Amino acid sequence: MRATMDSQPTPGRASDDYAMVGLNWAVVLDGATALKPADNGCIHGVPWVVRRIAGHLAQALTLAPQVRLDEALAEAIERTCSAHRNTCDLSNPDSPSSTVTILRRRTDELDYLVLGDSPLLLRRDGRVEAILDERMANLTDYSYDAVIAVQNTPDGYYVANTMPEAAFQSVLGTVSADAVDSAALLSDGASRLVDVFGDLSWEQLFSVLVEEGPADLIARTRQAERAGAEASDGRTRKHHDDATAVLVSFDEG
Ligand SMILES: [Zn+2]
Repeated sequence: MRATMDSQPTPGRASDDYAMVGLNWAVVLDGATALKPADNGCIHGVPWVVRRIAGHLAQALTLAPQVRLDEALAEAIERTCSAHRNTCDLSNPDSPSSTVTILRRRTDELDYLVLGDSPLLLRRDGRVEAILDERMANLTDYSYDAVIAVQNTPDGYYVANTMPEAAFQSVLGTVSADAVDSAALLSDGASRLVDVFGDLSWEQLFSVLVEEGPADLIARTRQAERAGAEASDGRTRKHHDDATAVLVSFDEG
C-alpha cells in the first residue's frame, strides 16, 4: 500500500482534523467544531479528543491486525472517556466529538468503517464508489437543541465522543482487495467541491487526487471558497473548513 496525504487547517486556525497511515491502513478523523465551546464540559478541547481517539486506534490497528474495526473504535472511545472522566463532564451532550473513517487491507480483503461525514472513496473495477454516512446530512432541523437531541440516537446520527456503542452504528464493510486499485479518505472540508458546491462528481474529484495529488485538491477547494462558491443545497456553512485528504493505492510496483 502506498499513500500520499495533505491536511490544511482553516486559514488562521488550529486544525481539528487528524490523519494517519500505517503499512496497511489509513485513518481520517474530523473533530466537530463545538457548538458552545465554553459550555461543553471538557477542559481539553476538540483536538485533544481527536488525537486520543486516533492514538488508541493506531495502537489497536498495529497490535491487533485482525481486530474488527467497530470493536477497535469502541475500545478507542472507551479509553478516551477514561482519560477525562475524572476531569470533565462526559454527560454534557456537546462533549467534543469526531468523525472516524478507517480503511484497512488484510491479505485478500479490504475492511472499512465510516462514522460521520468523512467520505471514503473506493475505485473498484474502474468505478469510483463513495461510501458515506449520510445521517447527519439527512437531518431536517440544524438548530443546536434539535441536533443535540438526536446525537447518538437511532433518530439522528452517531459520532465518536462519549458513547463507545456508537462505533457499532458505523457504516461497515469488507470487499475483495483484488477489485480495488486505489482509495481516498477525506474530511468533509476536502469533499466540498462535490457534496457542498456541486462543482465536481466523485469520479472527477478522484481524478484530481490521482493526477494532481491531495495538496492540489485542497488548493482547488480553497480557491472555490475564496471565489465565493455557494452551497448547492442553500444551507449556510463555514466559509473555510479544515481539509484533509489521504490517497492510497494498492497497485504493485
Ligand atoms: Zn476533557
